[in-house]
Amino acid sequence: MSKLIILFGAPGSGKGTQAKKITEKLGFIHISTGDILRREVQNKSNLGKEIENIIISGKLVNDDLIQKLIVKNINFDKNYILDGFPRNLKQAEFLDRFIFENKEKELEIRKVLYLNLPEAEIIKRILGRRICSNCKKEYNVLLHKIDNNNCLLCNSQLEIRKDDNEKAIKKRIDVYFKETSLLIDYYKQKNLLLDIDANDTIENISSYIFANIGKI
Ligand code: AMP
Repeated sequence: MSKLIILFGAPGSGKGTQAKKITEKLGFIHISTGDILRREVQNKSNLGKEIENIIISGKLVNDDLIQKLIVKNINFDKNYILDGFPRNLKQAEFLDRFIFENKEKELEIRKVLYLNLPEAEIIKRILGRRICSNCKKEYNVLLHKIDNNNCLLCNSQLEIRKDDNEKAIKKRIDVYFKETSLLIDYYKQKNLLLDIDANDTIENISSYIFANIGKI
């Protein structure tokens, strides 16, 4: 038996932050397709270079590649939080097929958490995002006091993600509204969706999630 929680929302809606909270509290394994892809980019392989160009442009990486990554990372006796997958209807249908084809393994989507954030807030949050060049701790200038642009944990320089520039942000938001937001109705129809007001503090959002996901 393997339980899945899907976490999705616009870029900057706080998926990574809430995924970590769920991992800590429920012991689910965090699979972030964005993080997996960024690790591949760091390897500087040919595939990594190809992926980097796509990420920087703000577009989605090819569905087949992402689907292979998911299959590779799912071990049927563990529970997972999927952060950043599925990202469009094709990927959602793939996941349903994958679950069906592995029926005997009892893989099941238990809840789909939708972090709902107004567009103006999305842009503000992304522009405030910083990441430590060394330990990868994430910050937001809107929330953290990081006047000298150094990491509060290891004092290394903070950086802006390469896809957090205005052009890529515009494209990512466009992709989000055209493709990812279609998942809202898809999972609503399956009675799995929890619509979460993400325009709130980290603590309030996670309290809301834990109060409403029921018995996972
Ligand atoms: P994230 O860290 O989730 O914001 O993802 C960063 C970038 O990685 C996205 O803008 C896409 O280019 C790529 N990416 C992450 N997850 C997926 C996915 N499920 N399908 C396609 N591309 C993805």
